[in-house]
Amino acid sequence: MLVQKAFRFRLRPNRKQEGRLSQFAGACRWVYNRGLEKRKEAYENGQRIPSLYEQNMELPQLKREEERAWLMEIHSQVLQQALADLDQAYSHAYRRLKNGEEAGFPHFRCKGRNDSFRYPQGVKIYDSVAYLPKIGHVRFRQSRPLDGRLLQTTIVREVEKWYISFVCEIEVHPAPVDFSEERCIGIDLGIESFATIASNQTTEHIANPKWLGKNLSHLRYLSRQLSRKKKKSKNWFKALASLRALHAKLRNKRADFLHKLSTQIVQNHDLIGVESLSVKDLLGDAPKSLARAISDAGWRQFLQMLKYKCEHMGKWLVEAGKYFPSSQQCSNCGRRQKMPLQMRSYACSCGLNLHRDHNSALNLRAAGMSVLKACGATPSGSVEAGILRL
Ligand SMILES: [Zn+2]
Repeated sequence: MLVQKAFRFRLRPNRKQEGRLSQFAGACRWVYNRGLEKRKEAYENGQRIPSLYEQNMELPQLKREEERAWLMEIHSQVLQQALADLDQAYSHAYRRLKNGEEAGFPHFRCKGRNDSFRYPQGVKIYDSVAYLPKIGHVRFRQSRPLDGRLLQTTIVREVEKWYISFVCEIEVHPAPVDFSEERCIGIDLGIESFATIASNQTTEHIANPKWLGKNLSHLRYLSRQLSRKKKKSKNWFKALASLRALHAKLRNKRADFLHKLSTQIVQNHDLIGVESLSVKDLLGDAPKSLARAISDAGWRQFLQMLKYKCEHMGKWLVEAGKYFPSSQQCSNCGRRQKMPLQMRSYACSCGLNLHRDHNSALNLRAAGMSVLKACGATPSGSVEAGILRL
């Protein structure tokens, strides 16, 4: 089975290369924003919106203009890719609109925020060195071996540091799945513990990492500092830079924590029942606090990791829909009762008395197993791995 896998490393450009990287990112931002502006103009004037093909055809013309001569210095496929990214952002927005969701049309890119560009091809990788067309051989810190066929290369600047990520296509040979009782688990995600993992015999509460709480107050402090400064003043930019640096640090730490946890879970189990997170649900019942926003981001990322890792390793993930009563139902007898958030334990007339998250996790596990049975899989049987939604 062929799957796509991303590898991300820290780039180590020399000063001259760093200048070139900034130039490339700046040119892509300009091309992207110009493309977006033309599309918006056409829309507002009631004209047909220019297609990707038409916008691509304008590039050679732009390069010939005297004041745009600097575009000549940029690899042309990289510029075309910026327009392709814009086009894709539009298609996603139209698709969401069609599904009755919020469209989220693309915004103008601003300098210093997600400066990035992409090579669709032409990049070559040697030992810890990447050859980037029109930039040269740039070193990167290769922390793990690369694998597979290179599909795409993205270069991004995050708070003064450059990163390179390779999307590769790799062939995976998943091991046969084993659906015996102890290989099936349910996971409940929450605020009190980051995750509660239940199998038929054991429960594990994964605590929220300690660094999160410590940095949260620092984050609040920095955003308060920013709001007190005069917008776009020298001190405002300074405060903004420290806030972004802390956000980046937290993102990296969180990704590291989630990668370790998700890999360990997927390696050791064959069926995982989880609850899907719906944006509307979360915004509906929660105040938009900083702590909550950070938890949301963590859960989302965690579920994404579980999904692709299950696919790569050939495991099963069953995602229960948002109407699945995982917290209301008794995992022993199936009776239901109202469970407001402040009720931390589930007590049922059948005698069951469990921590609320543990009860939820057991329900998700049972839901996963019932889906599996419905698919005709037996404990030793083999079915194709997959991701299912209830
Ligand atoms: Zn019961």
